[in-house]
Amino acid sequence: TERLEATVRRLRGQAFLNDENIADALREVRMALLEADVALPVVRGFIEQVRQDAIGREIGKSLNPGQLLVKLVHDRLISLMGSENAALNLAGAPPVVILLAGLQGSGKTTTSAKLARLIREQTKKSVLLVSADVYRPAAIEQLRVLAGQVGAQFQPSDISQKPVDIAAEAVAEARRRALDVVIVDTAGRLHIDADMMAEIRAIHAAVKPLETLFVVDSMTGQDAVNTAKAFHEALPLTGVILTKTDGDARGGAALSIREVTGAPIKFLGVGEKTGALEAFHPERVASRILGMGDVLSLVEDVQRNVDQAQAARLEDKLRRGKGFDFNDFRDQLKMVQGMGGLGSLLDKLPGMSGINAQAREQLADGRQLGRVEAIINSMTAKERRFPDLINGSRKRRIAAGSGVQIQDVNRLLKQFEQSQKMMKKLGRPGGMKKMMRGMGANR
Ligand code: GDP
Ligand code: MG
Repeated sequence: TERLEATVRRLRGQAFLNDENIADALREVRMALLEADVALPVVRGFIEQVRQDAIGREIGKSLNPGQLLVKLVHDRLISLMGSENAALNLAGAPPVVILLAGLQGSGKTTTSAKLARLIREQTKKSVLLVSADVYRPAAIEQLRVLAGQVGAQFQPSDISQKPVDIAAEAVAEARRRALDVVIVDTAGRLHIDADMMAEIRAIHAAVKPLETLFVVDSMTGQDAVNTAKAFHEALPLTGVILTKTDGDARGGAALSIREVTGAPIKFLGVGEKTGALEAFHPERVASRILGMGDVLSLVEDVQRNVDQAQAARLEDKLRRGKGFDFNDFRDQLKMVQGMGGLGSLLDKLPGMSGINAQAREQLADGRQLGRVEAIINSMTAKERRFPDLINGSRKRRIAAGSGVQIQDVNRLLKQFEQSQKMMKKLGRPGGMKKMMRGMGANR
């Protein structure tokens, strides 16, 4: 990540992107993708696409060349993974059937229950769960227990039955009882084999699911890609659920699997509990793959939240030689709070993940900001305008008024002095805007 940032910085000052000036940055992007466990052929194709997107691009005023390239990479990643979250399709004549397919241990049974819970909570529809896994008696029992936990109906099945019959009967039962949704959990082998594929195809033909979801363990890396390919060839997949992403911080599998199956990733499994299912957001995974924090969303936040007029006012004031006072300091704090506080700001800055946990906690502590504001509010208007007035007895009064210790007031005065120094530097024309831009854009 740091390397990528450095390379990207070197691109500054160029008017167009060309093969030469993007070569280093693309190499770093390639490394980032490989390190995120994206499959090699996918990486190759991806880099070539970005190269074609980039060549000849004029670098506008708002971005520098490095940012433009990062934006192209980021946009390309997102469009590859599907531009937005694809919701579960339940728009069909009930009972709507959802079929889950995948290898053994990928998380199908757990995910069946998670989906049932999600549907129950979000749509209030009735859900019937059924297990067509006749190879492991414990698998049927596992689903029965889970169904009880998530408030879903359970259709009993038996290892003497044929999986196709189990599935078809469950759908018939749901129709009889006027239930809305049937989720068919299936068996999986440890490896892809012809029998398993024939079986799941037969189930698919018998129950005609509206959603055929491929469940895949994100931790299996390159293997996940081969599995995805086999299931994609056997079944018309309508979506993918990537499980165990709580254990895999890299997210590369998402990109590979999307590329191989062409099906949207609909959910991420983020834990073992039945509530641990999240809608898939391509932009989050894209940032994670590139390991660069939510750089772009930070840029947008800053643009959205910084009150341009306020910035201009402050700048004007500084230029006319009036000093930076506690009123301005308080305005600054408000801006930071408007951006979701320091904590959210820190999360989005590249290279901040490594920051010392304790320091981070202190910085992110919303109460800290609240305390500072209380202190400033306890000052008189005159003290705010002329902080030099604040002597020992005034400090005691301010501390008592805002319910803090004298040390807290001292600390704030020190911080204020530092800000004041910085502001003096920014008193030049355009200086304030430059700093605002610098916060988000010049990374
Ligand atoms: P199946 O063989 O495909 O039905 O897989 P199971 O649903 O039985 O899950 C296999 C194991 O993976 C179980 O121990 C689950 O608790 C676990 N598991 C499933 N999904 C997740 C997930 O998103 N995160 C984590 N950490 N574990 C999961
Ligand atoms: Mg199972």
